[in-house]
Amino acid sequence: MYDYLIVGAGFAGSVLAERLATIANKKVLLIDKRNHIAGNAYDHYDQAGILVHKYGPHIFHTNSREVFSYLSKFTEWRNYQHRVLASLDGQLVPMPINLTTINLLYGLNLSSSELTAFFESKAEKKKDINTSEDVVVSVVGRELYEKFFKGYTKKQWDMDPSELNASVTARVPTRTNKDDRYFTDSYQSMPLYGYTKMFEKMLDHPNIHIMLNTDYKDVIGEVNYKKLIFTGPIDEYFDYQFGRLPYRSIEFKFETLDQDNFQPTGTVNYPNDYGFTRITEFKHLSGQQHKKTSIVYEFPKAEGDPYYPIPKPDNTLLYEKYQKLAAKLEHTYFVGRLATYKYYNMDQVVAQALSTFKKIQSEESTNAV
Ligand code: FAD
Repeated sequence: MYDYLIVGAGFAGSVLAERLATIANKKVLLIDKRNHIAGNAYDHYDQAGILVHKYGPHIFHTNSREVFSYLSKFTEWRNYQHRVLASLDGQLVPMPINLTTINLLYGLNLSSSELTAFFESKAEKKKDINTSEDVVVSVVGRELYEKFFKGYTKKQWDMDPSELNASVTARVPTRTNKDDRYFTDSYQSMPLYGYTKMFEKMLDHPNIHIMLNTDYKDVIGEVNYKKLIFTGPIDEYFDYQFGRLPYRSIEFKFETLDQDNFQPTGTVNYPNDYGFTRITEFKHLSGQQHKKTSIVYEFPKAEGDPYYPIPKPDNTLLYEKYQKLAAKLEHTYFVGRLATYKYYNMDQVVAQALSTFKKIQSEESTNAV
């Protein structure tokens, strides 16, 4: 008899397994249908011996001291600040748009205050900001929107930014200084020995039993457990009874090149050319020294593993129907990106799992009284 059956060994499931086993002394069965732990953060050494991320580049960044110090129990860190260039008009320019981007693109020599005035002269005044297009056009104007966002968003989502919630492009800021870091969070580091090693340490506890290559549907009737934590897709849990929640998927094409270095930064975006959105070179992320280098191209697609919940109002309404069913279930918790249908980063999923653990603890102590 297990106290908890946890479906999914990504951040959501693994953090909860660790907390329940270590702090609450619960017996946990953690299952995943894949042949590895770590969910989409899984990394491994490829044939050339270079550390690569199987499900696309994962850069850790957070403003939460709680999340950072929690994960620090299981890994040392390597300071890493991610930088992204966009390939535009035959040159590579910093992304998010900053002072250097505009000066390079237009052959100007503006100062920060002149750039503020430049943006103001280009910005289109909008009464309401509803879509991803509104967010960008209202700050930098239509020309920069078309260069940097329109094509990229169309490739990434197969939708025009005017059809997508404001949240998508709101994630990418615009700067009037020369700060060319992709993120500005207070903690920006990569696990020193990789994500998978960090997960191995997190799950190394006698109370945690792990079963891989195991779909929960194949074992649910055969396992004895008291409570369930589900981190897979919420619509799958309810047999798609209201229809499928739409996701965007990606095909990853990996290459190892017989050269030391391929591109100047971790990621280069291709907003308007080619079928792929971006290329990432892993050695920038890991700091690994190797005479060869491995890169990954990302080709967004409609079919495949569910990666990105599509942020459109209709989809939010559909998710809310499933959420209502979920709220009626006893002893069942839905946690993580797929189970809450949210475009969460890793740190947000860790925070969600830690707060779910606190909720479980307080429910158990109330029931014990
Ligand atoms: P997952 O990692 O998806 O884990 C869910 C697990 O459940 C999976 O292993 C799956 O196999 C398992 N599962 C599903 N259904 C079943 C079933 N029926 N039976 C058994 N097991 C099942 N975040 C960042 O912070 N920084 C980044 O740079 C970043 N880059 C990203 C790039 C890409 C391409 C993608 C797709 C995501 C990126 N993310 C990034 C987000 C990050 O991947 C997620 O926040 C995080 O992995 C979510 O963890 P999770 O546990 O909720 O889900």
